[in-house]
Amino acid sequence: MSKIVILGGAESGVGTAILAQKKGYEVFVSDMGTIKDKYRAMLEANHIEWEDGKHTEEKILEADEVVKSPGIPDTAPMVQKLMEKGTPILSELEFAMRYSRGKTICITGSNGKTTTTTLIYYIMQKTGVDVGLAGNIGRSFALQVAEGDHDWYVLEISSFQLDNMYNFRADIAVLMNITPDHLDRYEFEMQNYVDSKMRIIQNQTEANHFVYWRQDEYIDNELEKRANGYRPSPTPTSRPAQEGHPTLCGFVDTDFEKYDLDFSQIGQHNKRNALAAYKATLLAGADEAIIRQCLKDFPGVEHRLEKVEEKNGVLYINDSKATNVDACQVALQAMERPTILIVGGKDKGNDYTIIKDLVKEKCAGIVYLGADNTKLHQNFDDLGLPVADTHSMKECVEACVKMAKAGDTVLLSPCCASFDLFKNMEDRGEQFIEQVRLL
Ligand code: ADP
Repeated sequence: MSKIVILGGAESGVGTAILAQKKGYEVFVSDMGTIKDKYRAMLEANHIEWEDGKHTEEKILEADEVVKSPGIPDTAPMVQKLMEKGTPILSELEFAMRYSRGKTICITGSNGKTTTTTLIYYIMQKTGVDVGLAGNIGRSFALQVAEGDHDWYVLEISSFQLDNMYNFRADIAVLMNITPDHLDRYEFEMQNYVDSKMRIIQNQTEANHFVYWRQDEYIDNELEKRANGYRPSPTPTSRPAQEGHPTLCGFVDTDFEKYDLDFSQIGQHNKRNALAAYKATLLAGADEAIIRQCLKDFPGVEHRLEKVEEKNGVLYINDSKATNVDACQVALQAMERPTILIVGGKDKGNDYTIIKDLVKEKCAGIVYLGADNTKLHQNFDDLGLPVADTHSMKECVEACVKMAKAGDTVLLSPCCASFDLFKNMEDRGEQFIEQVRLL
């Protein structure tokens, strides 16, 4: 009997354990942290051996294969030992794909993954096909395969997951963009991170498709490097596949108008997300009229430029997911009315100069929300806009009400992590929504 060890006992790990057991492996789950009650119960119910708070080395090193949670870096001592021994280390997705008959639409990129994945899933569901949502989002892919499988899967895939995928092949691969992120996990080498993202097209053949944003700084060049003839074409439409390579289906921003699309979500970046979803679902065989209707109806994803409510002529928007300056920048670019910007939190060494001109152009006031707002004062006070200093969501929304006039927008797009005053970005967004609803 083949032995498989699963490092990490949360959604993906426990799903993998259940699938592996079903497929006849001897399974052991090990987690350095604490396994949550819900997952313990699932392991117990399936009589799967597990441990937490430690890694029992002898047992782990006996494994024929290891499936590792994407949260565990390669530098972790246990992973290092496995690598030295030459034990194959896979991701959940790689393992589960061995047993799935489903076709896949796989989405990656530095930004826009969750929005595009959710939108593609929304469209695929409306077309009536049997489809599952998984990867970095929703329920474990492996568990869905174990429970009976689907005809299609829409998978959000991070670079960490791609790093442990080898035989994986996406039927339709989608790459939104590549911008510097998580470089600490890539030896601070941008090229390593770019290579990781490009793994989304590994093993693809002419029967498969690659949907990507052609205005990205890296992707076209990477395609050119990878094979003769993978050359950027002057026309942004699909090009026939060359032997051994996927059909390239690049898009550019102006395609949104060219295809006459109508999308429920605001902002230029969201037009790209809509274009990627439009192309990918057409390739998956979805009916074009249904796709167009879905783009109009899509309710959006929580905490991402989410319209909360209009109160006394003031529109409140929750963009709590904007935990860095780039995300706040795209949010501000999407603003069409004078904006009161709520900014602040746990600063990760932010350079606010990137958005200063935009703040000047779009904002009618700024409300600082953080445990310590000193850096924000130093960066923005000299713009001469009204500013307020607040330390709780209640205080913050009160300050916004005082500052905003009818016709303005209040935008929570904080540029910062939330951990100084909130449990996480969801908690921050939910507290914002709650305070706005109380007005
Ligand atoms: P991810 O899952 O990749 O983090 P999300 O869909 O959750 O992406 O969006 C996170 C943030 O990234 C959004 O709040 C927005 O600021 C920004 N964003 C979304 N889509 C794009 C895009 N296509 N290009 C650039 N930035 C984007």
